Amino acid sequence: MPWYKKLHWQIIIGLVLGLIFGVIAAAQGWSGFTSDWIAPWGEIFLRLLLLIAVPLVLGSLITGVASLSDLKKLSRIGGKTIAIYMGTTVIALIIGLVLVNLLEPGAGVPEDMRQKLQETYADQAAAGLETAAQAAARGPLDPIVSMVPGNFFEAASSNRNMLQVVFFAIFAGIALLMIPREKARPLLDVFESLNDMIIRMVEIIMLFAPIGVFALMAGTITSIAGDDLGQIMELLRALGFYCIVVLLGLITHMTVTYGTMVRFLTPRSIGDFMRALAPAQLVAFSTSSSGATLPVTMERCEKELGVSEEVSSFVLPLGATINMDGTGLYQAVAAVFIAQTMGMDLDLGAQMTIVFTAVLASIGTAAVPGAGIIMLVIILESVGVPSAGIALILGVDRILDMCRTVTNVTGDATVAVVVAASEGQLLDKSLLPVSN
Ligand code: ASP
Repeated sequence: MPWYKKLHWQIIIGLVLGLIFGVIAAAQGWSGFTSDWIAPWGEIFLRLLLLIAVPLVLGSLITGVASLSDLKKLSRIGGKTIAIYMGTTVIALIIGLVLVNLLEPGAGVPEDMRQKLQETYADQAAAGLETAAQAAARGPLDPIVSMVPGNFFEAASSNRNMLQVVFFAIFAGIALLMIPREKARPLLDVFESLNDMIIRMVEIIMLFAPIGVFALMAGTITSIAGDDLGQIMELLRALGFYCIVVLLGLITHMTVTYGTMVRFLTPRSIGDFMRALAPAQLVAFSTSSSGATLPVTMERCEKELGVSEEVSSFVLPLGATINMDGTGLYQAVAAVFIAQTMGMDLDLGAQMTIVFTAVLASIGTAAVPGAGIIMLVIILESVGVPSAGIALILGVDRILDMCRTVTNVTGDATVAVVVAASEGQLLDKSLLPVSN
């Protein structure tokens, strides 16, 4: 097949053209045209992916858990999965903290720039602070309480409540395991056929991906820059070093941590792994949502990487909801950066608190755009840094959100391949279809 017919190249072309179009549109003052006529196509693509996220999580987790044959297997795979998820998140946080302490991006932000940023983004920051204050005002056990839905339909009515859907699905899967097989069969058949239908829907939606990604990129640039490209340049001058530290951390985590895991714990090569996952990473980059990317991640892991349905349908929906290494790393860097900019010193104890709260926060962060910065407020408060400081970094948040979402999705897929390999559930490479 010629290279340009491969899906990931088509998406890359869409992404690059979207970037170029967005920059030209900002320079020429076409922001009205872009947001009226181009951006809606990106919104449609995003909505189509989100549309199938809840049914996919529900169907795949219920069948995933119920197909594990017994509770022992469930606790083994579940325990392993959660332990690796937590472990990699802690490694990501440590990488972020080491880099931000060594490179000190906050030390070089001039005082006048700091004030300007805080004034410009004060209103947006206030909205985020309000949401975070509501979360922080609750009791210590609230994260556990809010995991349990009081009404299934309410839980399924918002992609932000995915953790509640995950809870219901695992609970239902366990109950199905515990009733006689012949009684469970009809319901399992329904969910299995639901899964097949959804995977086919993903394939259809992905035909539209290059255009969707083009429109999302053009729309994102317009929403950040409007008709004034100089504004982005000024922001990047002030916050460029901070962005570089976050990016350096994300790249280090993806290449060193995930690279080592794939290389030594699975039979796949790093090149094969990245090539197979590329379309999911590109969709993650352009949608900034690991929830919206989940259908694509599942399809790539099963069809291109050979992860068994049993493993992928359990590990990936769980990962998209609770495993966010990129978000955690970004939160650690951002918290210390804000403290540095404000001339505050965070001692070792405070940095350990960041690790602890960020692990919990990354579990509670919804897999939607911009969720990470809201949870950052809780981390800042835990170490006594004024949370209004998020105004400093809001201007570049969307750009970093796109990048951290790629890491989040890559982390989920890495763990899926590792768990599948450890369970003897990774298809032999020779049995995989020719990659597209
Ligand atoms: N956008 C991220 C995701 O969906 C979450 C965040 O860090 O805001 O994975």
